Amino acid sequence: MTQTHTVRPAALVTGARRGIGKGICLALARKGYDIVINDITHDADMDNTVAELAREGARTEVVIADVADPQARADLAERAWQAFGSLNCLVNNAGISVKVRGDILDVGEAGFDTLISVNLKAMFFLTQDIARRMIADEAPRGSRTIVSISSANALFASVERAEYCLSKTGISMATKLFALRLANTDIRVYEIRPGIIETDMTRVVKAKYDQRIADGLTPIQRFGTADEVGLAVATLAEGAFPFSTGDALHIDGGLHIPHF
Ligand code: NAP
Repeated sequence: MTQTHTVRPAALVTGARRGIGKGICLALARKGYDIVINDITHDADMDNTVAELAREGARTEVVIADVADPQARADLAERAWQAFGSLNCLVNNAGISVKVRGDILDVGEAGFDTLISVNLKAMFFLTQDIARRMIADEAPRGSRTIVSISSANALFASVERAEYCLSKTGISMATKLFALRLANTDIRVYEIRPGIIETDMTRVVKAKYDQRIADGLTPIQRFGTADEVGLAVATLAEGAFPFSTGDALHIDGGLHIPHF
């Protein structure tokens, strides 16, 4: 349902019907945002997310689109911008893992291209599209931010997930590049590096990581939650750090700290 112009801030979150994206939507809603929820599929998870956001008082617009598809992504940007009259916040969250963990010497081009298109290319071109719209907006309302969800794998090499690591390192550099380009606007650009977060994406490796966490992998010895990543995004989005841009925030229980 398309809404008319209001003074409430609005955010677009990609890949948001479940998992970390949903946690981000809920945290933004608790800060008073209306939300454009993008995902590739509309299913019961999407209906639940819409209902939970409504309980938080947020208005929502669902846009089903594959962010890796250039035309679908352009349509998403246009619909998201029009839904509530403008956008204060873009969260590039949609991401996929490798289909099969395996030897870097066996990585095929088709799978590589798919993963890079979803995780990195979509982030780059959606950021470009929304940044242009934000710059052209003659009457911006409140804090404006672009936050991209990379991973601890922006730093840590997992040799059996090579293309995933490359995509996340690419998000780190793209964040710095857009931060520089937008530094003299009011648009702040950030990256969040989640560690091991309990979602469907990590369900397949839950037992393995439970053991590694128990063995000391993360200083804070537990999985993180989607809500904790969401809180970080919402704090950045509301403009808590106006003299900061291009920074990466680790939501990883201390995983990134080099230690013995
Ligand atoms: P998730 O549970 O798999 O959720 C990701 C969502 O994005 C799914 O609903 C997925 O839909 C959607 N999506 C996938 N491809 C898309 C596309 N082309 N266009 C639009 N939507 C698409 O994953 P998550 O754990 O919440 O991860 C969210 C982000 O955090 C990802 O970028 C991931 O790399 C990153 N991250 C996660 C962790 C972790 O521990 N969970 C750690 C570090 C970083 P389908 O499932 O239907 O494809």
